[in-house]
Amino acid sequence: MIGTAFRKKVPAMRMSSSIKKINHSKIYHMIYRESKGVSKQEIMRRLGLSLPTVTQKLEELLAEGLVQDAGAADSTGGRRARAFSIVKDARLAVGLDINQDYYTAVLVDLLGSVICSKRQRFPFSQSDDYYRQIGLAVLELIDSVNADHQRILGVGMGVPGLITKDRERVFYGKILGFEGATCREFSKYIPFPCVFFNDAKAAGFAELWNRSDLTDAFYILLSQHVGGAMIRNHQVELGENTRAGEIGHMTMIPFGKACYCGRSGCLEPYCSSAVLSELAEGDLDLFFRSLRGGDPVKKSAWDEYLNILSMAVNNINMLLDCPVILGGSVGVYLEEFMGQLRSLARDRNSFSDSADYLACCQYKVEPIAAGAALPFIDEFIRTI
Ligand SMILES: [Zn+2]
Repeated sequence: MIGTAFRKKVPAMRMSSSIKKINHSKIYHMIYRESKGVSKQEIMRRLGLSLPTVTQKLEELLAEGLVQDAGAADSTGGRRARAFSIVKDARLAVGLDINQDYYTAVLVDLLGSVICSKRQRFPFSQSDDYYRQIGLAVLELIDSVNADHQRILGVGMGVPGLITKDRERVFYGKILGFEGATCREFSKYIPFPCVFFNDAKAAGFAELWNRSDLTDAFYILLSQHVGGAMIRNHQVELGENTRAGEIGHMTMIPFGKACYCGRSGCLEPYCSSAVLSELAEGDLDLFFRSLRGGDPVKKSAWDEYLNILSMAVNNINMLLDCPVILGGSVGVYLEEFMGQLRSLARDRNSFSDSADYLACCQYKVEPIAAGAALPFIDEFIRTI
């Protein structure tokens, strides 16, 4: 599971917790890791537990609705044992990705999969109308899968702003002009626990999900806005003032393009997805189709984009010496251009002839919204 820096702190298990509770937890987590289901005999063997203990704990997990009988287990011969698997939708969490022109709402299950999502064009405003609209969106999404409201763990709201450590207030929000906005006002029409998340850190958390290989890395969100998440010891670092990873405002070109932050030459105005989509009627997919079709204007813009991006990734690698993962709406298209980007990054590297530290994101489905929902899932699973 993922570390504590990003998710809400959960009370530590008391030392007096009984062995029974530990076995309950061990069995659930073992079943959780086995997507095809696992038999009672396998649980006994792998955890070194007795038949009565495993039987009793399985009955408890079945009664709690957390585990189900998944039918016959795979067998190499003889009588096929019953297999048990987790109930993926025993609990669900909602994530929102809130932007100037649209919002996206997703529903995530206990495996961290997005089971449904909805994107809606609706201009942001700090108004009762807007809060009512996102409240409706959350309820409609839950009702669309007939999920019992008791199963909803909470709603995470991914926003393009910097959030206080308690996740209750926006303390920097120039993009939406919502500095000082509180989670309380946003969640006025949402009858579940709600918290804010910074968009890039939420997306970085989604990337971490189920990736035990990622100990240290830097995740770059290349979407309508540029942000980052610094991953250390398998957790998203917040930094002293929750501003860690804000690479969108690293100076790349002295006295360069104006940035919304009020400075100039930041990474943001060079590597936002808008730089590309503005050349294709606001349609990023159309930009890449034209680029593949050989459009010279798109080619020139893309070359400049990759050139600046190669500077940023090289700077990050020089500073942190760790993998750099490219995500967000542009990251989804980057796989086919990785050769070109690696070559540019390699040319800037003072120490190595390779840029193998660069990788495309693996979590591609609505990473901001999903990443805002996943801390609720993570916390729930850890407490079982
Ligand atoms: Zn800036």
